[in-house]
Amino acid sequence: QGRYSASVDLLRRARTVIPGGVWGHNRMPSALDPDELPWFADCGRGARLRDVDGHWYVDYICGYGAIINGYARPEIDDAVRDQALRGSTLSQATAKTVELAELLVDLVDGMAWAAWGANGSDATWTALTMARAHTGRPHVAQVVNAYHGSHSWNGPADPGQGRPGQDTSLVHQVRWNDVAALDELFARHGDELAAFVVTPYHHPIPGDAEFATPEWRDALNTHCRRTGTLLVVDDVRAGFRLDLRGSHAAFGFHADLVCFSKGLGNGWPLSAVMGTEAIRKTSEQIFLAGTFWNSANSMAAALANLTLLRDEEGVKKMQHSGELLTSGLRRIAERNGVPMQVTGPVAMPSVTVRDDDQKWMRRFAVHMAAQGTLLHAGHNWALSTAHTPELVEETLTHAETAMARAQEDLGR
Ligand code: PMP
Repeated sequence: QGRYSASVDLLRRARTVIPGGVWGHNRMPSALDPDELPWFADCGRGARLRDVDGHWYVDYICGYGAIINGYARPEIDDAVRDQALRGSTLSQATAKTVELAELLVDLVDGMAWAAWGANGSDATWTALTMARAHTGRPHVAQVVNAYHGSHSWNGPADPGQGRPGQDTSLVHQVRWNDVAALDELFARHGDELAAFVVTPYHHPIPGDAEFATPEWRDALNTHCRRTGTLLVVDDVRAGFRLDLRGSHAAFGFHADLVCFSKGLGNGWPLSAVMGTEAIRKTSEQIFLAGTFWNSANSMAAALANLTLLRDEEGVKKMQHSGELLTSGLRRIAERNGVPMQVTGPVAMPSVTVRDDDQKWMRRFAVHMAAQGTLLHAGHNWALSTAHTPELVEETLTHAETAMARAQEDLGR
C-alpha cells in the first residue's frame, strides 16, 4: 500500500467518469505522479488540509487562493449555515446582497457599485463586456502571459485547445513593463480600445512575479485616461490578500473597473466586478446573468469574511507570516546551494527554481508533502490568516529536509 493509495484509487475511478479524473485547474499538477502527491482532499481546518489517505498538511495552495481566513473558519461557515437554513439560491436577491455591496463600496478605493458572478472568469468577462458597452469600442488589450480566466477571449489563441483565432482577434497583447510597447499599442489602437485588462502585479504561471515599474504604471494610467480606454484591474488572485482597498490602490493603478473573486468568500463561490460612478449607467443597461450570481450563502460568507479581515487586521497577519516564510526559504535555499527565486508579495509568493519543466520544484513539492506541507510546484503559494508563525516554522523545518532530498534526487 502506497502512501497515497486511497487517492490513487479514487483517481482510477474518476478517470472513467471525469475528463482526466479531475476537472479544471485542480488538474494542473497532472504532470506529477499521483503515487507521490495527494490528488484528493478530505477536509480542511484552519491552515491545515487532510487528504483522503488521512495525512494532514500545512497547506499553501489554500484552494488556489480562495481560502484567506483559514478552512472552515467558524464565524464564516456559521453565517453560511444560518443562511442555508433559510435557503441560498432564492427567487430574489436578499438583504445580504445589498449589505455586501455596501461593505465593498465602503472598503474598495474609488468604486461606487458592485455586480456579481460566481467565478473569476465571470468577473473579467463582465468587466470586458461593460467596457465595450461603455466605450462603444471593440478592442481590448492585455499583458502577454497574464491569465484572466478560462474564457477564450483570454489569449493566446490555440485552435487545438478549441480556442480559434477569431476569439482573440480583437485582443492585443503587450509585454509587462515594456513602456515602448505600450506607447506603440496606444499610438496604433488607442482610439479603438475599450479596455486594458491588467493584474496589479504580473504573476504568470509558472514564473517569477514582477511588480510594475513606476514608469510603466504611470504610462498605462496616462494612456488610458487620454484615450478613454477603461483600465480594468483583475484583482481576482491578489484581491484582499494585500490591501482591503483593492490592490489597485496599493500599487497605484487608476482603475475604472476592478474584478475580485478568490479571496472574497473564503471558499464560497462568488466574484464581484466593481466600477466607478462614471460607469454606473452602463452597468445598469447591459445584460449579463448567472443563475447562482445572487446566491445568499456566498453573500453571507463574503460579509463575514471581509468583516473578519477588517476587524482582525488580517492583511497584516498574512504579511507577517509571509515575511517569515519567504526569508526562511531564502536562507535555507542559500545554505543548500539551491538557486531559488522568491518573488512577489510575501503573502502570496512565487517560488521558482529555473530549470526544465519545473523539475526541481516538483521534487521539492513531493518531499514537502511527504513531511506534511502541501504546495504547488508551478503556482504561486498563498498564506491565510490561519498560517501562524508557528506553522510557518513547521514548514521551514520541512523545507530543510525537502531541499536536501530534492538536490539528491536530481544529483545536484
Ligand atoms: N484572473 C486571475 C488573475 C486569476 O488568477 C484567475 C484564476 N486563477 C482568474 C482570473 C479566473 O478565475 P476563475 O478560475 O475563478 O474563473
